[in-house]
This record gives sequence, C-alpha cells and structure tokens, in this order.
Amino acid sequence: MDAASDNKSALKSALGDKARQFISRPRQMLINGQWVEALSGKTFQTLDPATGSVITEISEGDAADIDRAVKAARAAYEDSPWATMTPSARERLLHRVADLIEENADELAELEALDNGKNKAIARAVDIQVAIETFRYMAGWPSKITGDVLPLSVPFAPDQKFFGYTLREPVGVVGQIIPWNFPLLMCAWKMAPALASGCTIVLKPAEETPLTALRLGELICEAGFPDGVVNIVPGFGHTAGAALTAHEEVDKIAFTGSTEVGKIIAKAAADTMKNVSLELGGKSPAIIMPDADLDVAIPGAASAIFFNQGQVCCAGSRLFVPDQHYDRVLEGLADNASTLRIGPGLDPENMINPLVSETQLNRVMNYIDIGRREGASVIAGGRRRGETGYFVEPTILADTHRDMTVVREEIFGPVLCVQRYNDVNEVIRMANDTIYGLGASLWTRDVGNIINIVPKIKAGTVWVNCHNILDVAMPFGGFKQSGYGRELGKEVLELYTHTKSVCIMA
Ligand code: NAP
Ligand code: MG
Repeated sequence: MDAASDNKSALKSALGDKARQFISRPRQMLINGQWVEALSGKTFQTLDPATGSVITEISEGDAADIDRAVKAARAAYEDSPWATMTPSARERLLHRVADLIEENADELAELEALDNGKNKAIARAVDIQVAIETFRYMAGWPSKITGDVLPLSVPFAPDQKFFGYTLREPVGVVGQIIPWNFPLLMCAWKMAPALASGCTIVLKPAEETPLTALRLGELICEAGFPDGVVNIVPGFGHTAGAALTAHEEVDKIAFTGSTEVGKIIAKAAADTMKNVSLELGGKSPAIIMPDADLDVAIPGAASAIFFNQGQVCCAGSRLFVPDQHYDRVLEGLADNASTLRIGPGLDPENMINPLVSETQLNRVMNYIDIGRREGASVIAGGRRRGETGYFVEPTILADTHRDMTVVREEIFGPVLCVQRYNDVNEVIRMANDTIYGLGASLWTRDVGNIINIVPKIKAGTVWVNCHNILDVAMPFGGFKQSGYGRELGKEVLELYTHTKSVCIMA
C-alpha cells in the first residue's frame, strides 16, 4: 500500500459503523419525501480534505431537479397536512428533529469531520450541539408567533366601527443556499426558523460538503414531516443554486456565503422580486485596548482566527495592538500558533485541520505570498504542511497596514494580519476601514471603553473579551457588504414570515 491509501484506510478506520455505512454507497437527493437520483443521472464526488481522496458519489442536481423540488415544496405549502398543522404539532416535529440529531450526534460529527476536514471533537461540541440547540430553540416559536390587535380610528368614516388586526403568515416556499464551513450547523440555522414559521424548503448544500445535509434529510423524514416540506438538492452553485434563485415559485432566498455570490443572488432575485436575506463575508477586527488582560486577549485573539482554520465568516482576521504591547502580543501569538498540532480532524488531538478544498488551499497560499510581497513580516507559519491534504500552518503576518491586499480582502484561512496603533480614536477608524461589518471584538477591562467604543463599531455583533461566541438567542448578521437580515433570535422570524393586515367592518 502506498502512503496515500495507507492514510485513507487509517482515516476510515477512525469512523464508527454508522458513518462508514453512510458513505459506503452513492447518496441521492431528497425530493417530495423520496430519495431520488438526478434526472440527468449525473453525480459528483465529495472529497476528504485530509487526503484528497473520494469519500463517495453524490447525485448532482441541476435546474430540472430544482424545478421538481420547488414544485414539491409548493404543493406541500399549499395543500398538505403541513398547511393545516397546528403550531403545537409543528413544535413537536422540530423537537423530534433535535432529538434525532442528538441520538445520531457521533455519526454526524464523524461525517462532518470527514467531509469538511474539521476536528471531530469540536464538530461534536460546536457544530452538532449548536444544531441541536437551534432546532430546540426554534421549536419554541410556532405557538408564539402572533399578530397585533390594532386600535383603528378611520377619519373618513367616524360613525362606522372597524376591527383591525394583523396576521403573521409564513412567506411560503423558501430557497436556502449554504456554504461548506459549518455544513450541518448552517442547515439548522436556515431550516429550523423557516419550519417554525410554517414555510416549506428547498435547500442546496455546498458542493464540497453535502454529507451531513443529506443525513439530516433522513432524520427529517424519520421525524415524520409531511412529504415535500423539506427538499434537499445537492449540486453546483452556477446550476442548481442559480436555478433556485431564479425560480418563479420560490418566495424567498436565504443565502450564506461570499459577498461576490451574494451580489449575484440579490440581482438575480430582483427579477421575480423575491425576499432575500444575505449573510456574507467579513474582515472582522479584534481590538486589544491598552488596559486589556493580555493573558486573556492573546489566546483569545489566536482562537478568533485559528478556530475552524479561519474558515469562519466572522473570524477575527485583523488584530489591532497598542504600541506598548506590540512585542509581547506578537511573541504570545507566535507561541500559541506553534503549539497547535496540525493534522486530520478525525484525530481530535489535531487542532489545525485541512482547509476544505484544493481551491481554498491555493487561494490562502496565494494570499500569504501576496502578503510577503507587499511587505508583511511572517512571524509564524506561512507554509503548506505536507504534500497530501490541504493543510496550511497557522500564519501570523505582522507589520501590516490598511493598503495591503491581505488586510482588505477576506482570506478565509488561518491567516492573521496584525496592525499597531497608538491612539484610541485612530484604532476605531482603522477597525471600521473595511467594506465588511459582520463582527468585531474589544479586549478591555474598562467599562468606560465598552460603553464608548461599542456604539462606534460598524458591525452586526460586537464581542467584549471573547470572539466567535454565537448563541441561538442572539441575532446574527452584517452591516455594510456583510449582508442584510438577521438570523437567530426572535428577529429571524422576520425573515420567514410576513404581515397581513385585516380590517373588518362591523
Ligand atoms: P460561495 O461561492 O459564495 O458559495 C456559497 C454557496 O453558494 C455554495 O452553496 C455555492 O455552490 C453557492 N453558489 C455559488 N455560486 C452561485 C450562484 N451563482 N447562484 C447561486 N448559488 C451559488 O463561496 P465559496 O466559493 O464556497 O467560497 C469562496 C469564498 O467565499 C471563501 O473563500 C470565503 O471568502 C467566502 N465564504 C464566506 C462564507 C461565510 O460564511 N460568510 C462561507 C463560505 C465562503 P457551490 O456548491 O457550487 O459552491
Ligand atoms: Mg468534502
């Protein structure tokens, strides 16, 4: 056996029986409660990023399959047990999905680690657990989505009595397009609130990571959802994704991914005047204040960028350090980076895992080269690790400044750009000097700093003494070119319901 196939069988032996069985055959798409092949008969391969080897074949949906799925979702929305189901019955179904994810959590974590590359233990504790919590939290909403009674005083009919109220109704058939960085978690963030609101769904997972979405589809069938309520069509963005965005029978598109594709989707959706919500890229600042507890801020800033190999939309990718702490912080970050073990995610001791694909590997390595050429100092990492798999060392670029490409563009890898500052007003300006506005963190022990600086930061989430903490109760979304609409919390219901005003003349 050569080294690559040796590696491949070692990784497969790290899988439990259920995960191994799931990948032992080609996987189909879920349309109208049935597992079916693409009408074209085409398939594509999903790869293990730790080895580059094929995991299994996946049915490749295109416009014709999207059309079938949308028709099934439309029929389920208009005329099925789902359309007349009581809120409490919807709640029970959502709770059942949460329970089933929990019962199959180890298998899902293994599939996620295999398909995305990430650490299996972290996938279990974060991706899978947060997916469970998301379904549980959203399961609480169906019986609590209410309209208002309106005190009317119609001026041109003062002697007539009217009764006014609002209904909050589901928006209808929803198209959902998600990325590969948190595959199951993104399914949960998208599906749970849409289902809580009474919508029906066609979801397209990312081509790189379809496995857990398809396993979730099985669990949704097992939970007892009526046929056609949830349809899952794997395929490519420019075919399946574009067809979903353009389809006349889709009422709303919810997208998470790059700003570039977000703009394409918003423009395409305008043709049919679809309601659109976009959760896009970021270049989030982490600001260490002069009074910060550096024992907290240094490991915090490292994990803000290295978690999930930096493939996080709100990763703390620009770090601002005051002059007086610059050397100590750089030294601490370099030490931190050197302790992170690099290797496949199926071994939970490995804290830096492969990037999701060869494309991402090349993209990130190219940015590191650009950074070097533009004059950044590489004080940790900077290289690809190994020749198989898509591993990149945790990388710290020091002495960066606002005009560098690596500071301006989203890299989506384990690459931190450090900038120094010496004045608080200056650092707020520097932090906001980006087209993005998704997240930001402030590291300080001074409550005055928190009260004064938080309102000046142009970002949808501001963390204090932490970063990347997302909770299902806390709305999440972007300012500026990081998108619009808020996921999670009660605000997400705004995305999946609309208001109908009713006026009754007595
Ligand atoms: P992407 O192209 O934005 O992909 C996200 C999703 O959109 C995928 O399901 C993709 O399908 C689909 N898609 C692509 N083109 C489409 C189109 N014309 N119409 C409809 N859907 C379309 O992101 P990527 O290529 O995976 O990654 C590129 C960069 O995006 C990353 O380096 C990173 O900067 C950024 N990104 C951001 C986030 C985030 O959470 N903010 C997540 C992932 C990536 P496929 O299956 O064909 O990819
Ligand atoms: Mg894969």
